[in-house]
Amino acid sequence: MLPKKHPRKKSLEIRHKLVKGLKEGLVTQAGLIAHGRGEAFDYLLGEMTKPDAKKAEEAAVALMLLAEKPVISVNGNAAALCAKDLVKLALLTDSSLEVNLFYRSKEREGKIAKELKKAGATRVYGAAGKPKRLQGISSARRMIDRPLWESDAVLVPLEDGDRTEALVAAGKKVIAIDLNPLSRTARKATITIVDNITRAIANMNLIAKKLSKLEKNRLKTIADSFNNKTNLKSAERLIRKGL
Ligand code: ATP
Ligand code: MG
Repeated sequence: MLPKKHPRKKSLEIRHKLVKGLKEGLVTQAGLIAHGRGEAFDYLLGEMTKPDAKKAEEAAVALMLLAEKPVISVNGNAAALCAKDLVKLALLTDSSLEVNLFYRSKEREGKIAKELKKAGATRVYGAAGKPKRLQGISSARRMIDRPLWESDAVLVPLEDGDRTEALVAAGKKVIAIDLNPLSRTARKATITIVDNITRAIANMNLIAKKLSKLEKNRLKTIADSFNNKTNLKSAERLIRKGL
C-alpha cells in the first residue's frame, strides 16, 4: 500500500497497474519501457491535464461523434491502464474496439480482448478476425481488421509513428494520445492529445456526455477550429517551462 500523501502516488499506481498487466500477459517488457518515456514528459507537465490537452480532447471527441465509423485501437498498455474507460468511450461515441499490437501474439491479443470484455465490451475486433494489410508499414501492426479498414476516424492511444503515418495516408483522421509532443506519432496525427492516457480517456468520457447533446454544426466548429501544429508547439513550451 502506498502512503496517501506520497507525492508520486498516482504515478506509482499507474506503474503498479502496468506491472500487474505484465504478469497477466497483457503488457510486454518493452511496453514498460515505452511507458517510461511518456512518464518523463508527464513529470515535466506537472502530471495534470493542461488547457491545451483539454482543447485537444474536446476536438477529438467532436471528431469521433462526427465520424461515420469511428474506431478505438487498443494495445496492451492501454488495456492494462484503462480498459473500463475505453469501453465507456466506445459506447458514448459509438466506436468499434479493435486490438492492435506492435509485439503481436494470438495469446496476448486474446487476453486483451478478454480484458475489454470483462470491462463491458460486447464485441472486440482484432487481427484475429479477417485482417487486411495496411500499406506503408512493416511491423505486425500493419494487419488491421474490417472496422479499422473501413473507418474514417481512429483513436490510437500510445501509437507508433509508422502506423500513424500509414493510417493518415489511408485517408483516416487519426487521434493520438502521446505525452511526447516531439514524437512522429504526435506530429503526424490529425489531433494529438498531449496527456496521460489515464486522464485523457476519463476526460473524454465526460466531454462526450456533454458534446453528444450538440448539433453537428457545433461539433464541426469545435473539430475544425483545432490546430494540431499550434497545440503541439504550446505543449513543447510547457515542457520547457517544466524544466
Ligand atoms: P514514435 O514512434 O511516434 O516516433 P517513439 O518511438 O518515441 O514514438 P513509442 O515507443 O513508439 O515511442 O511509443 C511510446 C509513446 O507513448 C511515447 O512517445 C510516450 O511518450 C507515449 N506514452 C507512453 N505511456 C504513455 C501514457 N501513459 N500516456 C500517454 N502517452 C504515453
Ligand atoms: Mg515508435
